[in-house]
Amino acid sequence: MSVARYWREIPRRYRLEAGKCSNCGYIAFPHRLVCPECGSRKFEDYRLKDTGKIVSFTTIEVGPTEFSDQVPYNVGIIELGDEVRITAQIADADPKDIKIGGKVKLEFRKIQQDGHAGVIKYGYKAVLV
Ligand SMILES: [Zn+2]
Repeated sequence: MSVARYWREIPRRYRLEAGKCSNCGYIAFPHRLVCPECGSRKFEDYRLKDTGKIVSFTTIEVGPTEFSDQVPYNVGIIELGDEVRITAQIADADPKDIKIGGKVKLEFRKIQQDGHAGVIKYGYKAVLV
């Protein structure tokens, strides 16, 4: 993803703003231009819940280069409300404390720092509640 596009998307990501298809109700997060379910291009803004439960998770021992200073870390599939599943890092948690069905809250945090450009990327992380 380009840096410009990344920064454009930050406000929506920060507010957990999704798009809800006006035709079939499909919820797209991040936003999409075209509904993958019905092909409609009409969306209304839809605010996701910031709490959810863990559907599955894994511990990453060897990460991609940009995350190599963070290993090991936990990544989970989080179901927000009963609507949307997202993938997020589960921060500040010992793997033995993470349970399927466990409740989490999303927080907006620094995710990664690009060493050369000095670009700090922010995004949501899940923390156990
Ligand atoms: Zn649709």
